[in-house]
Amino acid sequence: MRVLEVISPDCECLERAITVEHVLMKCSKWSAEREELITPLRTISVKEVLTSKAGGRAAIKMIQRTKILDQFKAVVEQEEGRTAEDREEEEKRSEEEIE
Ligand SMILES: [Zn+2]
Repeated sequence: MRVLEVISPDCECLERAITVEHVLMKCSKWSAEREELITPLRTISVKEVLTSKAGGRAAIKMIQRTKILDQFKAVVEQEEGRTAEDREEEEKRSEEEIE
């Protein structure tokens, strides 16, 4: 799942960057939410959480509660809106601008 690879700004816990795995499975800041939504799924694998129906729902709820969804959306949209070709084009253009 693509979202897992997205690195966004540092998490509020300051332990590391915000990733889906960090927030769902590890972040100390959201342990209460995790206990309610993720712990009942009885898995410590973020992949298992995200690939099961109940887990997917729980993950969405948790992400909404942590209010990091907007940050994810911004990053994901940015990633998906641009292809590798676009990026190459842009790099070329900015090189030209430098000259
Ligand atoms: Zn954290």
